[in-house]
Amino acid sequence: MKQRNLRLGKNCFYCDETTVLRETKFGHIYECPKCKAYVSVNKKTKEPLGSVADSDLRRKRRIAHYYTNLLIKRKMNRDNLTYDKAKEKLYFWLSKNIGLDFYIKSIAQLFPKETEKIINIMSKYVKR
Ligand SMILES: [Zn+2]
Repeated sequence: MKQRNLRLGKNCFYCDETTVLRETKFGHIYECPKCKAYVSVNKKTKEPLGSVADSDLRRKRRIAHYYTNLLIKRKMNRDNLTYDKAKEKLYFWLSKNIGLDFYIKSIAQLFPKETEKIINIMSKYVKR
């Protein structure tokens, strides 16, 4: 239950504080008042996209996004899929690969170790 809350971004992954919705010039974020870790929100629902991230995890998420974008485009071309469908299939595959018991909808749902794992998997795959 707790793990789920952390993934939902309502509590801080690092210090367990309750996160707060805040408006920035880049849009809304959920932020930890204590350590300032944050996560972006879904523009429609204003719900956090996943767990909050410190600067190190944000850097890892950027790397993960770089790879997912490459693989989504490759999949779209190869299997003639829409962006959303290709993304769904990739995220499904990644979730299974790292042994999650649910399917991620966003990279932001992953914790640091899991993010490292998918970066590892995708970096090998991209080179093929
Ligand atoms: Zn915190």
